[in-house]
Amino acid sequence: MKRLSEALGVDLWIKRDDCTGMSTGGNKTRKLEFLMAEALEQGADMVMTQGATQTNHGRQTAAFAAKLGFKCHILLEDRTSYDDANYNTNGNVLLDHLHGATTEKFPGGHDMPAEMERAAEKMRAKGHRVYVIPGGGSNPTGALGYVNCAFELLAQANETGLKIDRVVHATGSSGTQAGLVTGLCAMNSAVPVLGIGTRAPQPKQEQMVYDLACKTAEKLGCPGVVKREDVMANTDYVGEGYGLPTQSGIEAIRMFAELEGILLDPCYSAKGAAGLIDLARKGAFKDETVVFLHTGGAAALGGYDFAFDNTDRWVNL
Ligand SMILES: *Cc1c(COP(=O)(O)O)cnc(C)c1O
Repeated sequence: MKRLSEALGVDLWIKRDDCTGMSTGGNKTRKLEFLMAEALEQGADMVMTQGATQTNHGRQTAAFAAKLGFKCHILLEDRTSYDDANYNTNGNVLLDHLHGATTEKFPGGHDMPAEMERAAEKMRAKGHRVYVIPGGGSNPTGALGYVNCAFELLAQANETGLKIDRVVHATGSSGTQAGLVTGLCAMNSAVPVLGIGTRAPQPKQEQMVYDLACKTAEKLGCPGVVKREDVMANTDYVGEGYGLPTQSGIEAIRMFAELEGILLDPCYSAKGAAGLIDLARKGAFKDETVVFLHTGGAAALGGYDFAFDNTDRWVNL
């Protein structure tokens, strides 16, 4: 990212997992590659998952379900209390519906995994073979997608002769970072990964990632390969809470869009990029080559138009 590198004085590269393909892409596509294979193997005819109203994971799940001919039901938790019409029906929600998925709304703070089990039981009683995917697709099966990403990243670095000093990305339900760290450790790579938090406080976020990384390493056949100190999260950029846009996130969206022509989303990738930008300005990456893993999410922008004041973009020449 030449122009962003110049602006921040750090050698910045980007891994475009916002271009993974399914329904505008994003990080859930890599996880779903493994999760949907498991669903096929188990003979499922319906998948169910859950997330926030503007869940990118739900949208990518709906797209995979369409491609494989599964029914798809998504349980949406109202974590923001926005009554904005676009937030509730545009962006990812519009795309969920276009892919043929059904959605169901729940108030914030609801026990969503329990609600999902109840819904799955109901559909099983009607004769469906339901495959339940946890929020964010974050379990050892899904995390294998990011073990693969680590292998791919190292292969690309080797091919191009790029010496990567650090990988930075937005972390949430933890499968992305858990898979990446597991893959890098399994390959005996010393590249550190910094997750920028989007919801939980640091001790909880790091513990979630570490626990899932340990299970993923076991599934991969190399138990114990991840050490606690391999898991690092910075949660200073969450702001007021999950899904609530921040000033620094909005600035990050504008910088990526105006300097690189790349779109971020207010909920995840913008907060990850806000951490990247702020830490770069504070000299945390001095003389480093940093790879920002773009986890996607721009499909949510249409649900967050209220967060941007673009009135000065209308001009009469
Ligand atoms: C889900 C998501 C993340 C977080 O990834 P996890 O594996 O849940 O930690 C980051 N960015 C975007 C755009 C996402 O949709």
